[in-house]
Amino acid sequence: MGTEAAHVVLLASPGAGHVLPMAELARRVVAHGSGAEFTATLVSYTNFSSAVHYSSALASLPPSVSTAVLPEVPLDDLPADARVETRIFTVVDRALPHLRDLLRSLLASPAGVAAFVPDLFGAWSLEVSGKLGIPGYVFCTTNVMALHTLIYLPHLDKTTACDCEFRDLPEPIRLPGCEPLRGADLVDPVQDRTNPAYHFMVEVGRRYLLADGFIVNTFDAMEHATISAFNALSDKGVYPPAYAVGPFVRTCSSGGGDAGEHSCLRWLDEQPDRSVLYVCFGSGGTLSTEQMAELAAGLEASGQRFLWVVRFPSDKDRSASFFGGGHGHGHGDSPLDYLPEGFVERTRGIGLAVAEWTPQVEILNHRAVGGFVSHCGWNSTLEAVAAGVPMLAWPLYAEQRMNAVMLSSERVGLALRPREEDGVVPREEVAAAVTELIAGEKGAAAREKARELREAAAKAWAPDGPSREAFQAVA
Ligand code: UDP
Repeated sequence: MGTEAAHVVLLASPGAGHVLPMAELARRVVAHGSGAEFTATLVSYTNFSSAVHYSSALASLPPSVSTAVLPEVPLDDLPADARVETRIFTVVDRALPHLRDLLRSLLASPAGVAAFVPDLFGAWSLEVSGKLGIPGYVFCTTNVMALHTLIYLPHLDKTTACDCEFRDLPEPIRLPGCEPLRGADLVDPVQDRTNPAYHFMVEVGRRYLLADGFIVNTFDAMEHATISAFNALSDKGVYPPAYAVGPFVRTCSSGGGDAGEHSCLRWLDEQPDRSVLYVCFGSGGTLSTEQMAELAAGLEASGQRFLWVVRFPSDKDRSASFFGGGHGHGHGDSPLDYLPEGFVERTRGIGLAVAEWTPQVEILNHRAVGGFVSHCGWNSTLEAVAAGVPMLAWPLYAEQRMNAVMLSSERVGLALRPREEDGVVPREEVAAAVTELIAGEKGAAAREKARELREAAAKAWAPDGPSREAFQAVA
């Protein structure tokens, strides 16, 4: 490499779960090598950006990372019940001309563009960067198993009878090096072949093959067989190569949300070691009214200590909070108003319910936290791994069911899984599962696995660690 720093343009899809890990990637890109080899521009979208949840992470980026925001695009023609994926794909698609203009102007600037790195929903933008002659690497904010499944979708689409939904497939899907998956465990948007989001996802699988490689936020100890099997296929030229460079987890000091002196941290200071369940469903996870009541009753009956990030319930959409939460509710409402009557008073001292958002990384690393009831979003999973906290897998949408299968497998063993009845985890099951996680034998075994994974995750980025080497290779 010459004396000029190579300029990498990163494009983060809407949502904290995309922007936060992309910011972490940008941070690592510019810190690579001597620290003067790369500069970066992190591009994000305006539409339904919950920027309040990641503005401090962006503000704390080093000066060699610039930021740019694509202009808002109109979405008012979408049906009110359009899936979250459809909304994101539409934003990404309609903003393509703005992206093209931005890439052209950066290409013409002295910095130039050495590489373009979109994330999952940026599959369409690979065509734009390709036409401008810029190498394109997709950053997968999830794991190699989810990536492999996505690339496999066009084949599955072609070979499955068109009147058969994937959830009705009689046999599990077996991909090399992956846990067998039931069709019902595939990502939500492909569970309805008549929905536009289905076609978007199949097309993503096809367009991913345009990438020069995949930079994946996972690590060898988590997915050894999966990564090896995928790269054996790329060696044969079937797929672009995958570089397992994770885990990228924000540190307590790198911000993201209202970190620092949140009152819930002071509450945790008063609790015994490893006694508190942290209950949080990511940036978008949303419970039905019935499920919220069952979870509350189960937590209360268990007598376990808890810290619960409460969102407005929705009976229509398990990802409703993704759009900022609280839509359709009266002004001045709080999600806590939707908890069962008297719940907050009866659990005072034992439990703390917090509306909307908490500093998750700080919480997971607090000595008082002993378990994590999680929707299994991949960032949350890696944050639990890095903190050595076992999980109760409670998948809600996106690729979370697949993640739950992996995390509760014998091989990974990081998560226990509660039993559902007709799509609801009943209160008795909540009480039994959270007690098992904090105080039972299975919970202790999951805690031991979490400890092993935490060590392996720390080693992944040590000098000569597998993730650092993969990062060097792709850099
Ligand atoms: N997060 C947080 N506080 C909250 C909820 C979420 O800091 O109250 C962060 C969490 O630490 C993670 C991200 O938001 O980094 C959510 O990403 P994930 O992939 O787990 O789930 P998604 O929101 O994309 O479904």
